[in-house]
Amino acid sequence: MKILITGGAGFIGSHLAEKLLAKGHFVIIMDNFHTGTKENIRHLLGSPYLDIVRHDITQPYRIEADMIYNLACPASPIHYQRSPVRTVEACVMGPINALALAHDIKARVLQASTSEIYGNPAVHPQKEDYWGNVNPIGTRSCYDEGKRVAETLFFDFHREAGVDIRVARIFNTYGPKMSPDDGRVVSNFVLQALRGDPITIYGDGAQTRSFCYVTDMVDGLIRLMHKDDFTGPVNLGNPDERTIKEIAELIVKLTGSSSKIIFKALPKDDPERRNPDISLAKNVLDWEPKVSLEEGLPEVIDYFRPLAKANSSPEKMPR
Ligand code: UDP
Repeated sequence: MKILITGGAGFIGSHLAEKLLAKGHFVIIMDNFHTGTKENIRHLLGSPYLDIVRHDITQPYRIEADMIYNLACPASPIHYQRSPVRTVEACVMGPINALALAHDIKARVLQASTSEIYGNPAVHPQKEDYWGNVNPIGTRSCYDEGKRVAETLFFDFHREAGVDIRVARIFNTYGPKMSPDDGRVVSNFVLQALRGDPITIYGDGAQTRSFCYVTDMVDGLIRLMHKDDFTGPVNLGNPDERTIKEIAELIVKLTGSSSKIIFKALPKDDPERRNPDISLAKNVLDWEPKVSLEEGLPEVIDYFRPLAKANSSPEKMPR
């Protein structure tokens, strides 16, 4: 099949492109290289089954494809808060353009939604029928509300025009090729531990997240895309919930670091708890994560080790 991935040079997108190429598909990566990098897809560049298009998804485009994965969007709080208006544009115009194209060319289209649509959840663990607890005017709102309206657009195009949609709610995901400078907890802690710098816990570290290894996430996305008669939304994530303090201690242990843990102010609207109920994904997609944190984190540590030494970013290629 011919498969378009918007945001295909990003963290999850580049792993997805690699997997789809390995399965024998023709892959078209579309990216504006705002947060994605060519470095992430450097190893794929020689493939005759790969096309790369530099394009901003907020502008309309026309490409022939059988399937579209709409992954393009800044996803870390640092990135999406840097240009919040552009983040809203990516969340709204990106889906409108992807859905209009899917309608025209009769392609199936999958939206990378997010656990952020649950906001600071009052229900725990989060199930797909929970409507969320989101601040509409806070500093996270550009992403949270943007991704919520993206889901609305997907279901309206589905109801109004019969577009063949899939919606995945992606929970925290980690793995090699995470950006070293996007301020994510796993990348921050691993780099800090490798460099012997203080580990910066925001707040008291009692807030929780549940971390899914990227290959498990990619497997879930592909299963959802290929599942007939099922739109979702469906939670994809690892239900193994840990406190941020536990994550810090585990990373210190796995790296053998002498870093001290320090505490900094908690960012505003930082969700206190997050844990996916994945019974729907288990039942419908026969999917559940296989890679534990204890297995996945060493892969990330190995990925970041040379970067930590060089004290540099992995971006060796121009954007
Ligand atoms: N966090 C932290 N120290 C850091 C980076 C993040 O304590 O150096 C915390 C952050 O406040 C949040 C959790 O780790 O409670 C996860 O943050 P991340 O930005 O990775 O993801 P998100 O908040 O979007 O789930």
